[in-house]
Amino acid sequence: MSQINRREFLTRMAAGSTALTAARKASAAKAPASARQARASSAGLAELAFRPLPLGAVKPQGWLLRQLRIQADGLSGHLDEFWPDVGQSKWFGGQAEGWERAPYWLDGFIPLAFLLDDPNLKAKAAKYIDYIVAHQRADGWFGPYPEDAVTKRYDMWAILLADKMLVQYHDATGDERVLKAVERSLRAMLTGLDRTPLYDWGKYRWFEGLVPAFAVYEKTGEKWLLDLARKLRDQGFDYAAFYAGEDIAVPTPRRGLWKWAKHVVNTGMAPKASALSWRLDRRESDRAFAAKMIEILDRYHGQVNGVFTGDECLAGKNPVQGTELCAVVEFMYSLEHLLAAFGDPFFGDRLERVAFNALPATFSPDMWAHQYDQQVNQIQGTINPDHMWTTNGPESNLYGLEPNYGCCTSNMHQGWPKFAAHLWMKTPEEGIAAVAYAPSSARFSSRGTPVEVTLETDYPFRESLHLSVQPERPARFPLVLRVPAWAEGAVLKIAREDEIRLKPGTFHRLEREWRGTVEIHLRFPMKARATRRYNEAVAVERGPLVYALKIGESWTRVNAGKPHRELPHGDFEVRPTTPWNYGLLLDPEKPEADIRFEERPVGEKPFSPEGAGVVALTKGKKVPAWRPAHGWAAEIAPGIQDSKEPVETIELIPYGCTNIRITEFPRVR
Ligand SMILES: [Zn+2]
Repeated sequence: MSQINRREFLTRMAAGSTALTAARKASAAKAPASARQARASSAGLAELAFRPLPLGAVKPQGWLLRQLRIQADGLSGHLDEFWPDVGQSKWFGGQAEGWERAPYWLDGFIPLAFLLDDPNLKAKAAKYIDYIVAHQRADGWFGPYPEDAVTKRYDMWAILLADKMLVQYHDATGDERVLKAVERSLRAMLTGLDRTPLYDWGKYRWFEGLVPAFAVYEKTGEKWLLDLARKLRDQGFDYAAFYAGEDIAVPTPRRGLWKWAKHVVNTGMAPKASALSWRLDRRESDRAFAAKMIEILDRYHGQVNGVFTGDECLAGKNPVQGTELCAVVEFMYSLEHLLAAFGDPFFGDRLERVAFNALPATFSPDMWAHQYDQQVNQIQGTINPDHMWTTNGPESNLYGLEPNYGCCTSNMHQGWPKFAAHLWMKTPEEGIAAVAYAPSSARFSSRGTPVEVTLETDYPFRESLHLSVQPERPARFPLVLRVPAWAEGAVLKIAREDEIRLKPGTFHRLEREWRGTVEIHLRFPMKARATRRYNEAVAVERGPLVYALKIGESWTRVNAGKPHRELPHGDFEVRPTTPWNYGLLLDPEKPEADIRFEERPVGEKPFSPEGAGVVALTKGKKVPAWRPAHGWAAEIAPGIQDSKEPVETIELIPYGCTNIRITEFPRVR
């Protein structure tokens, strides 16, 4: 979103009365009786702008299908087979970790299994869910909840997470036992919170409990579920109050103090509190807070890949500070909630930026290994006792099984599957909205008429998108399309009709009677942008993609003797084999004059250096003064650098395709 649009957006949010809201109200007023009745069943909760489709209704295609298959054939599909903290979890009757790790894994594994419609993965999910449900106690607590916790303090976080995970399984299967199990668990929590109020993780993640509470409420209409939601909010941490203070602006000092309120994973999760709390009682302050929170994070800790630093607490804008993988996937899930609740295209733009850049970058291309922390300027990932993380350890940017700590090993799985499941959402008028773009199809029903929508595209590596709408019989409903804020000159064309120009940063609405198969061509022109970053560095962007220097890589296996590191799930250091210390010669005001973009076939592994579907060629020079320090790229003084080195053509590839990279470049004379 451009600065102007961004300001407009914040003003609109603050005013609480938006063109979008007005349009939505107008269309709601015209909605037929059936839609109004459907909504009346959830009269206690504010209506969503867009309703996510049931899990399984969206099907990945093209490169997205390949990506999910890579994920299933990597760590996600196999973790329970060799990693005790999941496979032998107390949740499944074992003796290993019995808190967050197994529910975390299932939270991503379940949508992965149903999006791929893979019988083996679905059978595995069923086995574990059956065990959890069958071993729920008569008092409503799940198996791993300690027997004496009814009288002692117990951090409720893992129960919030487990219930959130279980409602996804119910959504995919309609299994009533699972919904009942969640209802009993939430009922136990309602009184449990009086005995032992939220603290620590539960206190900072209270809003996660609203996800299952709302899901059950929408099925049953039981008012106590809203009482539970309010109780969680009352006992939970108030992020809006914290963000009104000054501490949020301060980067955590290196080797500094770990703080709950600045913990990067809590930070990634918290924006959804805005949407969930708003649904409870429609407070405009709640609606406004999400955009404000993201704006504050961007200002003090934001990175060009769409996320913010935190290694492991918020760490400022320096591109060598890290971002924990858990925060990446949690921020995406928050954005999916915000997009559904408020229907603002800004959240869709941000979701794509995170999904296509920060998410894939932090995995090895085969998704058998991941990092704990990724860096925007990351010249190597090595065991580094001399590191400069704020509180994380020396192995944090290795690619491995459980570098630094095993939370990301169990929580990383939700990123791609939940993104895929949220590409299409239903509108209140029984239409369909494309809120984020990747090759996919979706089936939904518009007032009883089954409809299939399909998107064929290599977006984000291409500018053109080919949509088709196919109702089983003629049906009238809106098709709503997000037009990214960067897409100046975006156009839409339906055969034999005039081309329609689309306004960037809006949702475009096509309402008509659809019959037969209607083919729609969309083009989102991607113009090169050079954005100013930390210390006057520049980063190259085009469309939703950020570009980074392609660096030759040498991978070395390490920690081979450690438990569970048998290949293919080993630990690896990555070192550069080609120079990285380049400055760019481009003019940031007219970057398109100095960069040439070339399309390449999108690879079998779409997010790998070899598989990059587009490359950018530009001119630069080595900056000899720019050297490693502490095993990282040193900080370079602001301003234009001197270099007597020859001018070279340098190749940039999408950030998400890199494993090591330079993304924020100094400029050279
Ligand atoms: Zn983590």
